[in-house]
Amino acid sequence: MLDILKECEGAGHIGISGHIRPDGDCVGACLSLWKYLKNALPESAEITVYLDKPPKTFELLNGYDEIVTDCSGALPAHDVYFVLDSVPDRIGDPKKYFDAAVKKINIDHHISNEGGGDINHMRPEIGSVCEVLYDLYDKRYVDEDVAKAVYIGMIHDTGVFQYSNTTPDTLRKASELIAYGFDFSRIIEETFYQKSYIQSQIMGRCLMESVRFMHGHCIVSVIDKKTMDFYGVGSEDFEGIVNQLRNIKGTDCAIFMYSVGVLEYKVSIRTTDNVDAAKVVSHFGGGGHAKAAGCNMKGTYHDCVNNISVYIEEELIEHGVLDKNGEKP
Ligand code: AMP
Ligand code: MN
Ligand code: MN
Repeated sequence: MLDILKECEGAGHIGISGHIRPDGDCVGACLSLWKYLKNALPESAEITVYLDKPPKTFELLNGYDEIVTDCSGALPAHDVYFVLDSVPDRIGDPKKYFDAAVKKINIDHHISNEGGGDINHMRPEIGSVCEVLYDLYDKRYVDEDVAKAVYIGMIHDTGVFQYSNTTPDTLRKASELIAYGFDFSRIIEETFYQKSYIQSQIMGRCLMESVRFMHGHCIVSVIDKKTMDFYGVGSEDFEGIVNQLRNIKGTDCAIFMYSVGVLEYKVSIRTTDNVDAAKVVSHFGGGGHAKAAGCNMKGTYHDCVNNISVYIEEELIEHGVLDKNGEKP
């Protein structure tokens, strides 16, 4: 078992990062570890979180205002550097800090991550990296701030304890966490369910314009640059759309894409047991979990859908949903 505090013994400066376009699990993990280390280590230890600017809804977490989002300055030296909820290649600018650090630690729960640190703690069977971290924490140093951050990660990656990655252990830990007294109901409402009016409009538009194919087992929706500019929205406004598409009865694979450059899309997929999502995106350099994964793809919208569909169809055939010709059996 990885002993986080032992690995940080004597460290003067500790860095913490997670993946680009950070989600609830990523922000929760970074800020929970930040506060945990502050509680446990001597005051002289400097601890810094480097992340892409996280959505404002997470500002209710202690440490949110201290996240460093600009990594263009001189290279700070780190004795220990943690990469959470990601492979080191997907953390963006802070990758240079990680590369230069004396000791590199990678903690993750993505099945696609083979470990990119000197020390790797990979738990693909666990629903959120926050839950992985909580297992590693010495509970003497867990306070309300740490608990709240861990809880946020758990609810985001388990869909408020709905997805199949929720286990009896997850709920046992969640019950310990809410005993710290934070307003869990408000956290779920404000960070998971609540959407701005514009975000809701975008969601509505995506559902309206979605297209079904492969006999209704697949559904796709896309947002191009023009639409993003028209509404003034970006990646942080699309949270939940792909899940909503997946909720449609009969869907085994939902695909949601948005423009991230000229002829380049960020692609998210959500699936049932009938499609291994991580396997599908592995053909495009992406990663994730069995039922939720993502990748970047180049080409026109139609190219991307055509290219990814080949592997989705393979999965549907393998799982007996379609026959070997891709038709309904
Ligand atoms: P998303 O569709 O972006 O919400 O991501 C679904 C899951 O797949 C999350 O756990 C992500 O961290 C992971 N993921 C998304 N895109 C990538 C990628 N390009 N490489 C590795 N993992 C990814
Ligand atoms: Mn994540
Ligand atoms: Mn995660």
